[in-house]
Amino acid sequence: MGPAGAHAPAESFIESNRDMHLTLDGHTALVTGANGGLGSHFAQTLAKAGANVAIAARRVESLREVEESIRPFGARVHCIGLDVTKRDSVAAAFERAAEALGPVTVVVNNAGIAVTKPLLEHTDDDWNEVIGVNLTGAWRVAQEAARHMVKHQRGGSIVNIASILGLRVSAQVPSYVASKAALIQLTKAMALELARHRIRVNALAPGYVETSINREFFTSDAGQALIKRIPQRRIGNPEDLDAALLLLASDAGSYATGSVLAIDGGHLVNTL
Ligand code: NAP
Repeated sequence: MGPAGAHAPAESFIESNRDMHLTLDGHTALVTGANGGLGSHFAQTLAKAGANVAIAARRVESLREVEESIRPFGARVHCIGLDVTKRDSVAAAFERAAEALGPVTVVVNNAGIAVTKPLLEHTDDDWNEVIGVNLTGAWRVAQEAARHMVKHQRGGSIVNIASILGLRVSAQVPSYVASKAALIQLTKAMALELARHRIRVNALAPGYVETSINREFFTSDAGQALIKRIPQRRIGNPEDLDAALLLLASDAGSYATGSVLAIDGGHLVNTL
């Protein structure tokens, strides 16, 4: 709180917002899962804030559309084929991003999948696939990001995209909830060891935002019933995550590390 105290005029608030450095000028960001519902939006948001952006996913051809959507913001964009389940692919992605756009200082660790099946029917393959992308894949990306940032000695910010399902549970997604809970704990472990290298590691935990990962679900009776349990009575839009993403990615969040930021319309605090 500034010297004007709790009743500071609105203009002072706006002035202090301008001073918050919620921008990414001069940064290179790498976004995984960047052809998906949230990943494409995250890449656009970072570009609008001034970053050059490397966009990565397995299906490179579908990244071209995202690339075209970003160019009008004046950012440089580079498409990279990436499979987070393969160490070589992850390590090469950072090299390619740096060659094209300069050393990476912001990583949005967003690639993720879900298998929705009753617990008793979940197979080892289902479990391994989800843990392999959401946890082991995210680990690989974050570790290679940290190695890259240490090598280039510029520090950086890693934003792990978790979920409110890493903090509370829902039926029929046991591998998903386990992967996201573990990613949140990994975020804290990485923050602890990487602070000395000026690398911040935080988790963004979105509530339900409509994308291909859940679109079918929200057409069902169960999906409609779920919306009624969100205190704000709506699912999120990708834009609802913009401010949180930029806070964690930019210098505005320079004292935030090891934190978990839930943006969910109040879903985590719904009544028991
Ligand atoms: P989505 O539209 O299905 O996108 C998933 C992305 O992950 C795609 O770009 C996909 O691209 C990529 N991906 C999958 N496997 C990959 C692999 N092995 N290597 C590299 N990329 C891979 O999902 P979304 O809703 O945008 O979700 C994005 C993230 O947000 C996920 O981590 C999800 O858990 C999290 N999240 C979503 C919600 C929500 O309500 N939507 C809520 C909380 C958290 P390719 O198939 O081309 O590789």
